[in-house]
Order: sequence, then structure tokens, then C-alpha cells
Amino acid sequence: MKTKIVLLGPPGSGKGTQGEMLSHELGFVRLSTGDMLREAARKGTPLGLKAKEYMDKGALVPDDLIINLMKEKIASLGEGTGVIFDGFPRTVEQANALGKQVNIDLALNLDVEDSELVNRLTKRRSCPKCNAVYHLEYNPPMKKDVCDKCGSELYHRDDDKEETVINRLTVYRKNTMPLIEYYEGKGTLRTILGVGNIDEIYAKVKKAVL
Ligand code: AMP
Repeated sequence: MKTKIVLLGPPGSGKGTQGEMLSHELGFVRLSTGDMLREAARKGTPLGLKAKEYMDKGALVPDDLIINLMKEKIASLGEGTGVIFDGFPRTVEQANALGKQVNIDLALNLDVEDSELVNRLTKRRSCPKCNAVYHLEYNPPMKKDVCDKCGSELYHRDDDKEETVINRLTVYRKNTMPLIEYYEGKGTLRTILGVGNIDEIYAKVKKAVL
């Protein structure tokens, strides 16, 4: 079984949803830089406030901030811990830094076309407390605007609004897509078509991991 996994794919491709299901079933730790940064921003820490300036525009937070943040998290993991990296690395520089600490044995790339991504993100609703995500049509919460898992009020992330989504996709293409080739060169890339229902995609994800 693969135990050090990077989830690649554009915003809205399902990294969070699939990563969460996988970490739950396999007992792996899921490290989402997006969730960490949003929490830091909510708490108003210096890192959070700085990161927010970039996140609100749909831009990437500078590499040195992200690399420092992740270095500590990774160092605190036990030797044999299974880890799912969600939203990190997003640049070749981040991938090089990660590679110095961890041997990645699977880079799982979720492939979804742009029109579907825009639909997913603009209709996504997120839980600020437990980070669960919903879609107004495909995966709605049982009670409108309330998280099934923890009862908190759901919100529409500022960066999931259409103008910012378009920018995030452009940034993805320029900075993060080169990682597909990067991991292909290392022989660890697997690409999965990330369309269909959540369970169908999950079955493919699991097959790649086991
Ligand atoms: P996500 O929740 O993964 O879509 O991330 C939301 C936002 O957080 C991104 O649009 C970036 O502004 C920032 N972010 C998350 N992860 C990274 C990363 N690895 N490098 C740079 N910025 C990041």
C-alpha cells in the first residue's frame, strides 16, 4: 500500500473530498495547506493575515511561508504514519522541499475539465469548523446551510466566487500543472478522471493506493 500520497489536481477536482474519505478509511493523516491557512486567517495569526491577502485574490501564498509551515508539520509525524498531502505541493519549489523530507510513493492526479470545476466551486459550501464540503446539487447537506457532521453554519468561501475561481485556475495551470510532469519523471504519477459520483471516483482512488 502507498503511504505517502500527494493529491494533485485543480481547485475543485475533489482533492479534499477524496483525501478526507481516504484518510478516514485508512487512518492516514490528511494535511491540507488550504485548511491550515484558513484556520490561521480566522484566528488572525501573523501567518494567517499575510496568507489571506494572497488567498482572497486566488494567488498562491509565497513558497517560503508554505514550506516553513509544512516543514514543522511533517517533522512532527511519526516514521510509519500514512500521509495524504492535499493542496501541497503547488509549485516545483515546494515539491523539491517536500522531497527532501519525505519519499512520495504516489502522486494522484485528479483530472476534471474547467467548466465542471467552475460549477463545483461556485456551488460549493464549506464548513468553517470541521472543513467538510458540500455541493448545493450533487451533495447537499441534510439541512440547508448546516453541516451534517458538526452542525456549524456553512459558508461560501470568498475564493470560490466566480471571478476568483477563474484566477485560481489560471494560477493552477501556470504554477501547479508542471508538477504532473515532475512526478511523472519520478515514476509516481497516476491520473484518474475525477468525474462521476463521489463513490465511483473514490473506488478508482483506492485502487491506485492499495
Ligand atoms: P485550497 O483550499 O487548497 O484550494 O487553497 C486555498 C488557497 O490557499 C489557495 O488558492 C492559495 O491561496 C492558498 N494555498 C493553499 N495551499 C497552498 C500552497 N501549497 N502554496 C501556496 N498557496 C497555497
